[in-house]
Order: sequence, then C-alpha cells, then structure tokens
Amino acid sequence: MRPIIPDYLAEVLGDVESDTSGELAEYIPELAAADPERLGAAFAMIGGEVYGAGDIDIEFTIQSISKPFAYALALADRGFDSVLAKVGVEPSGEAFNEISLESGTGRPLNPMINAGAITVHSLTGAENLNPGERVDRVLRGLSAFAGRRLRMDEAVCASEMENAHRNLAIAHMLRSHQVLTEDPRPIVDGYTRQCSVLVTTRDLAIMAATLANRGINPLSGEQVVPEAVVRQVLSVMFSCGMYDAAGDWATQVGIPAKSGVAGGLIGALPGQIGMATFSPRLDSHGNSVRGVSLFERFSSDMGLHVMEVPAAARAVVRSNHVVGNGPNAPRVLQLQGGIGFAGAERIIQEAEGIPPSDARVALDLTRVHSIDDVARRMLLEVARRLTLNGHEVYLVDPESIIPDPDPGDGGRVTVVADVDHAAAHTATAGGGHIR
Ligand code: GLN
Repeated sequence: MRPIIPDYLAEVLGDVESDTSGELAEYIPELAAADPERLGAAFAMIGGEVYGAGDIDIEFTIQSISKPFAYALALADRGFDSVLAKVGVEPSGEAFNEISLESGTGRPLNPMINAGAITVHSLTGAENLNPGERVDRVLRGLSAFAGRRLRMDEAVCASEMENAHRNLAIAHMLRSHQVLTEDPRPIVDGYTRQCSVLVTTRDLAIMAATLANRGINPLSGEQVVPEAVVRQVLSVMFSCGMYDAAGDWATQVGIPAKSGVAGGLIGALPGQIGMATFSPRLDSHGNSVRGVSLFERFSSDMGLHVMEVPAAARAVVRSNHVVGNGPNAPRVLQLQGGIGFAGAERIIQEAEGIPPSDARVALDLTRVHSIDDVARRMLLEVARRLTLNGHEVYLVDPESIIPDPDPGDGGRVTVVADVDHAAAHTATAGGGHIR
C-alpha cells in the first residue's frame, strides 16, 4: 500500500507551490539570501510516527518559533509567578517587533512578541546564570524538545546582531522599566542566538508534538517540561502566536501555532499531532504565505480546529440491568469508553434511578479505557452515596483503572475482577444463594 499521509501532504504541497507571493525577511541580510522556493510539511503523531513531504530535512533558523519553547523553559525553571510578574498573557494585536509595553505595569504584553520573548530569554535557567550559560540552557532545552542535539547558525546570528537596533531599543526600554535587570546587550545577544538555532521541518513537527503530548517527547520519551507548563504555552500560542493575525488564525485555522521569519510555522493539536511547514516567503504580518495556506488546508481537510465539536462519544453507560436472579443478584451498570465530566454525569443520572430494593450494585469498568480525574471522583461519590442509601457497592475493575478506590466518608466498595466474582462475593457475604 502506498503511504496515505505522505501522499496527502505531497498533494497539498503541490496545490500551494505556485503561490510565489510574499517577501523574504529583508531586515536580516542572511535570511534575505535564503532559497525562496523551499517547501516542506511534516506531521509528528504523539505516538511517535513522523510523516513528511518536500524539503523536511533542510535546516533553517528557528527564529520566533523558539519563543513558545523558551517560555516553557522559563516557566519550568523559574515558576509561573516569577515569569507572569514580568511578562503578561494578553494578545497585543500588534506586529511582532512593536515597541510597546503594557501601560501601568511596563510589562511586555505577551511572550510571543519580541519585547516578551527578550524578557523570557532572561528568565531561562537558574537565577544566577551568566548570559553564556543561559544560551546553553536554551539550546539544551530546545534540543530536548526536538529529541536531537541542535546547533546554531553563527552567520545568521551575526547578521541579525549587526542590525539588531530595534531589539536593542526594546531591551533598553525594558531595562528602564526594570523588567530587565541586567545589561540589555548580552540579553539581546542571547535572544538572537536562541533565534539562530538550526532546525528542520521534521524537528519542528516533533517539537510541536512534544507540546501536543503533554510535554513528553514522543520519540525520546523524555518529559521535557511539566504538563501545567504545556497548557500555559499552548494557550498563549493560541491567543498570541500569530501576532496581529491571531484572531483570523484562531477562527480560520484554530490550532495553537507559532511562526518564524525564516519561514517555519508550527501547530500543536493537544492529544493528537504536531505539525510543521517551511516556506520562506512572508506575508505582511511576518507569517509564511504558503505555510498559512497549508495550515488552512490541514485544518479544514482533517477537522483539526480545536473548537470543532467532536462527534458525540458513544454512551458511557452501555447497559443497566440485574444479572441473575434472587434477592442478592447484583444490578450491573456496564460502563464503556473514556469517561470525563459529561460521561460521569450520565452515570450519576443512571445511579439515581436504581431502586432501593436492588441490594447490590456493581459498577463494571471492564470496557472503560480511561477515566479522568474529575470523573473518577464523581464515580467514587456515586459509590459513596449508594452505600449511604443502603446498597452494597462493587467495582468490577480487572485492570485497576481506579487503583485503591476510596469513596470517602461512609462509602465502601469491594473491588472484583469480573461480574461473576461480584455475584460470588455477594453469595458469601450474604450467605445467600445465587442463580
Ligand atoms: N529574530 C527575529 C527578531 O527578533 C525573530 C522574529 C520572528 O521570527 N518573527 O526579529
């Protein structure tokens, strides 16, 4: 069988190839010399599979796509409070290099615009690091996201530093507001190095997949940053990742994303996929023209918009009936699938209808493949209330989906491996006769 996903990617690349509109980033001379025809797209699944078409193994500089990852490192290294005290999370609706700070606090509006990203760079690593050690921390962190040792493009870095007047102006302004507390120049130098890290489209897809996979790199298995950090980063990517095009992007594409002026673009769909594209010509916002078209196609072709309402999950309560006969025959609520808040609510409704005459109730989790934290707590509360109402409650849980169930005050559950055991145990406990 020919590979389906790479064929799809090749087809979509073919559809956007003829669009040669947009310009290379002129303000960094080395980037202006890039080959504008490069085009590639890659998908990295959270299961570790990577699919691609076009130029997915050509290296280019990461540029602003480093910002969400550096933000993740700063949050992990310094904690939320210290980072949020210095950098906000409000969309600016302005260009990436706008010279603006939040009125009143003097904080940069968010970590995706340069003012925020320069500040974030200064917050990576432990507090006492010198600028060189900080760059090293960021390089190692980005490498962990990519799952391979990355390196810098010294020529692009030097070329940007020679023309870094605008970022230096931003950094000096940050220094004057005490947002930066050190000499601004080494910080801009470190930030520029961070932007000069070389990646391929394949690397970017894996980095995005690490975000989509709760911070665990799907190839190396490494937990690069904690889960709570990932949620923060994806939220900010969603609201601020595309600068002054963020609203258009959120509605039309609906995937947390980040672009870079070398032509890269990433998107991360939580629990599913990391995506990346590469095409160097940029639109007026500094986003890759063909990259934006590709993401519009991915989103609509595959229903990847995060606000897409999923098809109603199969009923969580598969059946509800008394198994066997006699006074001790258990009423079995056979549950199935993945249970979240809404599924647990269905179980509550079903439990409320159990007649008081059913002495034994078994909650059968045999066909449940996952249960989230709130649903687990709700299910145990169901068990507790059933106990208080005089029922004897069994949890049929052969795979320990709920390890060490504790229904709390006044609740009691007996864990059994199958419904027959519930019946047998009932027979012993009640001394009665079953079937
Ligand atoms: N290094 C670039 C800058 O600071 C990154 C900008 C970008 O990719 N949008 O100007």
